[in-house]
Amino acid sequence: MATEAKWGSLPPEEAIRFLRDKVNMPSEHWDDLTRDDHDASFVVAGAVKADLLKDIHQAVNRGIDAGTTLNDFSKSFDAAVAQAGWDYKGGRNWRTRIIFETNIRTAYMAGRYQQMTHPDTVKLRPYWEYRHGDSVRPREQHLAWHGTILLWDDPWWQTHFTPNGYGCKCRIVSRSRRDLERMGKIGPDQAPKEAYYEWTDRNGSVHKVPDGIDPGWDYAPGASLTDRAKEIVREKAKSLPSDLAERLKNIATSRPNPTTPEEAENLGGTILSRLPEPVNENDTLGCKKLV
Ligand SMILES: [Zn+2]
Repeated sequence: MATEAKWGSLPPEEAIRFLRDKVNMPSEHWDDLTRDDHDASFVVAGAVKADLLKDIHQAVNRGIDAGTTLNDFSKSFDAAVAQAGWDYKGGRNWRTRIIFETNIRTAYMAGRYQQMTHPDTVKLRPYWEYRHGDSVRPREQHLAWHGTILLWDDPWWQTHFTPNGYGCKCRIVSRSRRDLERMGKIGPDQAPKEAYYEWTDRNGSVHKVPDGIDPGWDYAPGASLTDRAKEIVREKAKSLPSDLAERLKNIATSRPNPTTPEEAENLGGTILSRLPEPVNENDTLGCKKLV
């Protein structure tokens, strides 16, 4: 049985770097940036002041490299908000939980992605297994994917690498040939059949999103992180004109970064707005230890 572990007890260097290297990017709307623009940008919907973003970014960083809790983060968030005089949308506990969890979980899996795609790892453990982890109100599709084993470079992972939505605690683990044999398998499974639904972003562009994945989450965090991609985002950050909505309007796809539970509920009927309150605010994210 997997043991519960604090994020902070497993601080993979790649995850820490992923989060730290993000460039603070002011944004007014959750769809100001593309899906994998999030790989290189730190964004809090509605936050445009540099100091505010810097403070929140640093508080999130501490969540992964020092293992600070949601409660710690929320206090830092309050201080940063008071300092900046920011009048944000949405309830405080809801916002802080979404910002903290999303950033840390995504960074964590981006770190795993980098480790698991390293040529040495691929050689020894070329299979990836989808492990369901949404214990409260599981998403049906995520449950259905549990135990699916595919080769690491199967195109299915490009859209289904976790997390696959807000609050998604599913994860991917690598497996060796011997692991497969122990499971009684002679090779990888067939990729699950995909169906798509349509999602319309703020600019009116319609996107096909695989069933079971929240809008804008159909990508592998960290996979876009080439030096070139980082450079593009840095350049973008430098040349921001004053009209934030206008400057990014040509960016079509995005990962929704809703500011209220209602906004979240409208995003394809996800479970976001029904995220449970933490049992104990001092708990960390309850991430299952990765094997
Ligand atoms: Zn999930």
